[in-house]
Amino acid sequence: MFGSFKRVVSSLVQLQHKGVFFICQTFLFDCRTLFVSYMSFYLPTPAVLQYAEPMKRITDCCSNLAIHTIIQLVWNEKTITRAELSRLSGFSRSTITANVDKLLEDGILLEQPLEGQDKRKSLIINQNRGLFIGIELDADCCAVGACDIMGNLLKEQCITIDYVDGPDAILKQISQTIKALQESLKERETAILGIGVGLPSPVDFAGGYAVHPAFMPGWHHYPVGPKLEKLYACPVFVDNEVNTMAFGEAFLSEQYRGKDILFIKLGAGIGAGMIVQGSIYRGNSGMSGNIGHMRVDGNTQQCKCGKVGCLEAIAGGSALLKRAELLAHTKQNPFLQKVVEEKGYLQLSDLKEAIRRRDSQIIQMVDESAHTIGSMVGSLVVFYDPKAVVLGGNLCEFGLQYVDSIRRAIITEATPWIKSDFDVNVTKFGDSIGVIGSAMLCISTLIHNGAFVNEE
Ligand SMILES: [Zn+2]
Repeated sequence: MFGSFKRVVSSLVQLQHKGVFFICQTFLFDCRTLFVSYMSFYLPTPAVLQYAEPMKRITDCCSNLAIHTIIQLVWNEKTITRAELSRLSGFSRSTITANVDKLLEDGILLEQPLEGQDKRKSLIINQNRGLFIGIELDADCCAVGACDIMGNLLKEQCITIDYVDGPDAILKQISQTIKALQESLKERETAILGIGVGLPSPVDFAGGYAVHPAFMPGWHHYPVGPKLEKLYACPVFVDNEVNTMAFGEAFLSEQYRGKDILFIKLGAGIGAGMIVQGSIYRGNSGMSGNIGHMRVDGNTQQCKCGKVGCLEAIAGGSALLKRAELLAHTKQNPFLQKVVEEKGYLQLSDLKEAIRRRDSQIIQMVDESAHTIGSMVGSLVVFYDPKAVVLGGNLCEFGLQYVDSIRRAIITEATPWIKSDFDVNVTKFGDSIGVIGSAMLCISTLIHNGAFVNEE
């Protein structure tokens, strides 16, 4: 299914004008015919071949360009007819037919009856060809998911990890989980075609490794991407985990597709991912969206980054647990005190339970943190002017009141510099957005780079 990416195709793709491709293809084909005829007349056969071969390679590249465009359009549109392919690509019906037939024969595309039509058929990508693995590493756990080429999550498994074990041991755990996923999906092709990884740290995207991660000893410049590439003999893309979440949301949510969105992950820490015109904005050093370490005025809480007053040192999940534990230890909150006495520590689920019990102390603490987050994000909205802010991460499980407080603070801060269609929502993909986003980053990059175009 994979072939090498054609350099010539790549440079033509950058023209991004399908009409030009069609003209190019027709023109080159005609040139080739005329050129070979002309050379046949004047030159002996070996010379004809010497010049004809490079010309043939150029027209072959144009054929690959047609295949690349067809795959990209079918994948983008999910289902499309041959006539629509011709109209959207600018390629002639005969070029579309020849190349679609080739892709049907190779099992890359499938044909299905068009809804409500007897004879007309539409094309879809064959979703049973192999797996794309999405991996999301978090503070103390790792989610591994297997997706098909359309980004549908087939199976997901979460494992507990301890960064003290080091990256080699954690990659081994991940490999065992991938193997278990493959075993459980035996009824389909389970060859791994690509892997996407989201790391909870700044990332060098080109190098495929973390850069100065805050709580991952041994991971600085550890070659996650190259190691997995070698192990699975497939392309691997590594990015910051909030970037992959933002990408997954922007690509799979119909209402946000192609729009600028700001994704905020609210977990132990706080981070943002920015999508600009359908692409991840990574910044100059790969540290864009590091909003957890932006300073909240008037606050002096010590942050693990070494600075004081950082947003996540005030409103992140770890900070909230720390404050709740203090309430328990100082006997200011009987419910939390009892939980700590029973199991020795607190989890976010305990705060959630306190909220459910209408514990006013915890409700107020969580509400204040929501307001702090919302005000900070509102300032970013004024600067960035996105279509939407999408919230993800386990703090969203605090419930509607928490999310509403964030929404209100964002809108208050950003008004009047937002349009009426601006919205703030929680991701509909829940906890799976990390693995789905990582897999989608991989699939989308491969599709758009033409990695599915065969060499021959
Ligand atoms: Zn900080």
